[in-house]
Amino acid sequence: MKTVLVTGGSRGIGAATCLLAAKAGYKVAVNYASNEVAAQKVIAGIEAAGGEAFAVRGDVGNEPDVLAMFQAVDKRFGQLDALVNNAGIIDAKARVDEMSVERLERMMRVNIVGSFLCAREAVKRMSTKHGGKGGVIVNVSSVAATLGSAGDYVDYAASKGAIDTMTIGLAREVATEGVRVNAVRPGMVETEIHASGGQPDRVARLAGTIPMSRAGKPEEIAGAILWFLSDAASYATGSLLNVSGGR
Ligand code: NAP
Repeated sequence: MKTVLVTGGSRGIGAATCLLAAKAGYKVAVNYASNEVAAQKVIAGIEAAGGEAFAVRGDVGNEPDVLAMFQAVDKRFGQLDALVNNAGIIDAKARVDEMSVERLERMMRVNIVGSFLCAREAVKRMSTKHGGKGGVIVNVSSVAATLGSAGDYVDYAASKGAIDTMTIGLAREVATEGVRVNAVRPGMVETEIHASGGQPDRVARLAGTIPMSRAGKPEEIAGAILWFLSDAASYATGSLLNVSGGR
């Protein structure tokens, strides 16, 4: 049975990915930052469908937490076949000329450094160079990386631009070591992330500006992530896939 670690697996796109991965036969490590109740709900959903999963707390932007998280996965599963680098944050709507250094450092620490630290630990376990059996990393970027999010959160968009670049570079770095690295770039998706940035009405307000005239559902992003994880994507690495209703 293959194993996958999904960061930010307790809610939104990550939770949908955990449930779909379990359905596809993966044993799932569900990472969360603080909402243990939400993580346990995902575990219960997986177990009710006959799957296997466990919850692991950890802030991806904190190195000791990341090391402990991967050690917990080693202990529980013995082997890691896949990482979904999904944990990410936004912040309040602001112009660049209003952003504090604290905000910028938090954004880059969680979204960029967090993804790098998790990718690093995954490569150490998966790469044939390190004695591993290969594996797959899927980064969750955003179409914001191509749009820039002017007036909303250029810092967030830039952090996702960094994830796109990391996807291409890391994919090439480990391409002959059995590890594929790809990114899914969601458009606007119906999750709690918008409320966490102080815009609970964002989806309702902006859905009409999307070519398909609706926001995506977390399950529609999870499907693309699962495709990259699967052997059907065996020749895909360094790919950036927009799943964004045409935007
Ligand atoms: P969400 O509903 O806000 O859920 C965020 C998840 O990440 C939760 O499980 C949360 O854990 C976890 N998390 C937050 N900070 C963390 C940290 N420092 N360490 C570990 N876990 C952390 O978010 P979402 O909308 O599903 O977004 C998931 C990913 O998709 C993000 O990378 C986001 O940038 C990207 N994305 C989202 C959209 C969209 O419209 N929703 C569009 C494009 C890209 P707790 O439950 O413990 O808080």
